Amino acid sequence: MSLVGPTPDRPPTEFRPIEVPLGAEPLDRLVAVLDAAGMARLETSLARMRALLAGRVFWNISSTAAGGGVAEMLHTLLPYMRGGGVDGRWTVIQGGADFFALTKRIHNLLHGESGDGGALGADERSIYEGTLAANAVGIAEAVRPGDVVLLHDPQTAGLIDGLRQIGALVAWRSHIGTDRSNAQVEQAWRFLLPYVRDADVTLFSRTAYVPAGLGPEHVAVMQPSIDPAATKNQEQTPAVASAILDQAGLVRAASPPLDPQPFTRPDGSPGRIEHGAEVLRTGASPRIRNRPLVVQVSRWDVLKDPVGVLHGFAHHVLPHVPAELILAGPTVHSVVDDPEAAETFDATVDAWRALPHGVRRHIELACLPMHDLDENAAIVNALQRSAAVVVQKSLKEGFGLTASEAMWKRRAVVASGIGGLADQIGDGVSGLLVHDPNDLAAFGQAVTQLLRDPVAAERMGERARERVRSHFLHDRQIADHAELVERLLGTPQRSGT
Ligand code: UDP
Repeated sequence: MSLVGPTPDRPPTEFRPIEVPLGAEPLDRLVAVLDAAGMARLETSLARMRALLAGRVFWNISSTAAGGGVAEMLHTLLPYMRGGGVDGRWTVIQGGADFFALTKRIHNLLHGESGDGGALGADERSIYEGTLAANAVGIAEAVRPGDVVLLHDPQTAGLIDGLRQIGALVAWRSHIGTDRSNAQVEQAWRFLLPYVRDADVTLFSRTAYVPAGLGPEHVAVMQPSIDPAATKNQEQTPAVASAILDQAGLVRAASPPLDPQPFTRPDGSPGRIEHGAEVLRTGASPRIRNRPLVVQVSRWDVLKDPVGVLHGFAHHVLPHVPAELILAGPTVHSVVDDPEAAETFDATVDAWRALPHGVRRHIELACLPMHDLDENAAIVNALQRSAAVVVQKSLKEGFGLTASEAMWKRRAVVASGIGGLADQIGDGVSGLLVHDPNDLAAFGQAVTQLLRDPVAAERMGERARERVRSHFLHDRQIADHAELVERLLGTPQRSGT
């Protein structure tokens, strides 16, 4: 595909990519949380990137500015890079419903699932290439020869060739994958490999996700990470967390909340909760009944298995130990590249309604407001901090930022022992892994075990925090980016460029 302009049979310029405005974050925000080695790693890596890039722009291109792990990371990683003198920028491609339905299909297939069962044939290729050709016009106006471009996920792979033709150095990163390939995974790669093969470097969260057909000389592993200073992860006292949950309408505080400005925005200004969550519950909010909370925060995606969490909790936790479950996700139409959210949320509501009233009253479904991403992050933070146990019962998971977020907050986490979750959590040490993600009894047993033994859960939470500090904070990922840039700028240009 050319980045020069749309061909006559392709859509004209109705899909123009949109650049996400980014600030520059001073590195000293991290001094309080990183150890000396982490700070040194961060500063050295940024100096290395700055020297290597020498005036080139480091572009990131993805398909949504809000919702999900990629957006979460770019909002925080890039400002640190900019604060360290790297010209990091972020552009979001646009597309129609047909494009995002197709890319969600590819997403599901790459996880080894059939998804909507639709085809990946010539018509789909034409929708895919047409949408990206339209976006490519705006991208070609911005990217200069020699710039470094990091493309994220299947939505953007069709841009690789055109970007290389204008002389950019191009890496493509997949945030998804599954440990065991199957016919669905192969189908997705048959569609994607003709584009992905042209990237100078391809990045995966685990070695197991690398498809046959990509030479090791073009592959690297890069695991995601979190920003400990972000609104999502910054410290909150129990009183502040409680005020936030009360103001969002999620959990009534035992006494009236005191703090009207409970969180700090990235620019240092105070923030308040002005939008309530949409909550489905019967009767009073849980804290009034004062039982420990179990929380899962995820997009409404079948692969996050909200219905499984609900049944596992109802049938294998509640009969053994008193507790409340909050299943939370973004408002259903807020994540543009996730068109299946409404359907998954509706299925969760149906499953909730089918439970007996006495069980249902201990389970709350919550759609968190997305008007203001800092406000949303503060609510997620408060939910994770207020939980006795945080769960991530995914059926498939490329990485699972929510697990790292909860571990950083010293929470005891129960997660499926699959994909990236198995790298994040040391089973029995820094959390509990459930080896078969479909085993509701084992899931319930793990949650029950932690609820019954808060001292063991607290010890696990302490170890979880240290695991995240050493492996899953942004200093480590920025070091990986410095290595990527070094590798790209050392890559000999292939023929045809
Ligand atoms: N998230 C959020 N608000 C929500 C639901 C999720 O900010 O209402 C965030 C969550 O805290 C995490 C990210 O979205 O940072 C999800 O990343 P993860 O890797 O867990 O899953 P993905 O959505 O990328 O599959």
